[in-house]
Amino acid sequence: METGSGSGRRASGRRYAVIGAGAAGLCAAKYLIGSGCTDVTIFEIGTQIGGLWCYRNDSGRSSAYRTLHINTAKYVTRFSDFPFDESVQAFPSHEDMHRYLVAYAERFDLVRRIRFRSKVTAIRPLAPEGSDAQRWEVVVEGGTPEVFDRVLVATGHLSVPMHVPEYRDAFGGEYLHSHDYREPEPYVGKRICVIGVGNSACDIASDVCQTSPMTVMVARSGVMIGPKLIFGRPFTDVTFRLYKTWIPDGLRRRLIAFLVRMIQGRMTDLGFRPLTERAHPTTSAVVVQHIAYRRILVKQGIERIEGRRIRFADGSEHEFDTMIACTGYLIDLPFVPPEVAEVRENRVDLYKRMCAPGWTGLYFVGLLNSTSHSLNDIFEKQARWICAVEHGEVELPPPAAMRADIEAKKAYLRRHFRDSPRHTIEEESLFYLADLERMRRRGRRRRAPAGGADADVAVAGGR
Ligand SMILES: Cc1cc2nc3c(=O)[nH]c(=O)nc-3n(C[C@H](O)[C@H](O)[C@H](O)COP(=O)(O)OP(=O)(O)OC[C@H]3O[C@@H](n4cnc5c(N)ncnc54)[C@H](O)[C@@H]3O)c2cc1C
Repeated sequence: METGSGSGRRASGRRYAVIGAGAAGLCAAKYLIGSGCTDVTIFEIGTQIGGLWCYRNDSGRSSAYRTLHINTAKYVTRFSDFPFDESVQAFPSHEDMHRYLVAYAERFDLVRRIRFRSKVTAIRPLAPEGSDAQRWEVVVEGGTPEVFDRVLVATGHLSVPMHVPEYRDAFGGEYLHSHDYREPEPYVGKRICVIGVGNSACDIASDVCQTSPMTVMVARSGVMIGPKLIFGRPFTDVTFRLYKTWIPDGLRRRLIAFLVRMIQGRMTDLGFRPLTERAHPTTSAVVVQHIAYRRILVKQGIERIEGRRIRFADGSEHEFDTMIACTGYLIDLPFVPPEVAEVRENRVDLYKRMCAPGWTGLYFVGLLNSTSHSLNDIFEKQARWICAVEHGEVELPPPAAMRADIEAKKAYLRRHFRDSPRHTIEEESLFYLADLERMRRRGRRRRAPAGGADADVAVAGGR
């Protein structure tokens, strides 16, 4: 009998807790159930399905704004076994994404498993570190603690604002973080300083600049802003074809940079610094036009703030009414004991971004940023990998080997990406996903002589 992951019980007899009913939690629950693990409970703070994509979610954690559309087009964003409705546009809006996730939950019969209004405040291991027979106590606000064999944390990582205190504290006007931005109307007629050049910064600056006497974007680092369309087709549909492990990485990146330059022009001509290190991808069809129209001015840094007056790196000075800090988000896992997985300098050390070394039966889903693939694609492959571990197809290495793997990944990130708190969970998704799939295939081959692949896991694999 295959038990997997060192537990005494067969996977299908275990109790699973999934924390979060966003895309990651729903996807993980669906794959667990599909693999025969039927005792699955999903805990959710609010009363809504869809996490971040539910605009004004009563969980208070959604960072969606009214004009938000997804950047990865629908054909690369869909789950592999659940297409978007044909009527949905190429780049779904947050409403489309929310409807899609609700429909996914209904289609795979997940809704009845969700306990809404259930904020998890603590998870506690019941055995010491290193125990193979680990079980977990899950504590819900106002509830009685319950014991689960396995816990999957899928609580997102784009909900708790990362501020730049020296700007926030010095600026004398209205200050908000992009997490709290919803719609452009309150900012009509105001002079706005947007800090950052990520996806939210491009969207929000483009929103407010049309009715603002002055909008400035402050970008301390270089950027490459990808387009949304090429020859009238979604850019991500085209670039996705280049994401093959046999295409040399340098060649692929040069090709994509060339296409971006053909469509958007030279970023330095728009006023940005040259991109010298790799960074999380930014995509916007319109911000480039707004910059060309001078509705948005680009500045390369702030030298000084005095009240509402800001002096920029180029020596110019302007007065602003509002500062919108699009400065990213902090990883927050307040319910996880620090001895299990500690968040330090916005980093958390997890093997394959999912497992805390030494702590059996705890998985994290979706705790990463992707360089290329849509996150739904990644959630699916993570979920399949977790199922494979649970069913004994993939064997986890000992904690020391996990830690060595984590250190190697950190060193890779330091070498290749901008060293900033925003890039601590950046993942080279093409190679990451290939690695997870390779581990699963190797596991299946290893088990094949003893009676072929486990039927349960074949379902989990979905193919
Ligand atoms: C502006 C913006 C644009 C984006 N664009 C793209 C894109 O183009 N393509 C792409 O692939 N991704 C994009 N993303 C990333 C997006 O985060 C993911 O696509 C995905 O939706 C995240 O899903 P999740 O389930 O990990 O997290 P979330 O959607 O945040 O869901 C987490 C859930 O966990 C719940 N929860 C949290 N803590 C607890 C607790 N203690 N107890 C119980 N429940 C809890 C929350 O209420 C929430 O429902 C974008 C993100 C942002 C902010």
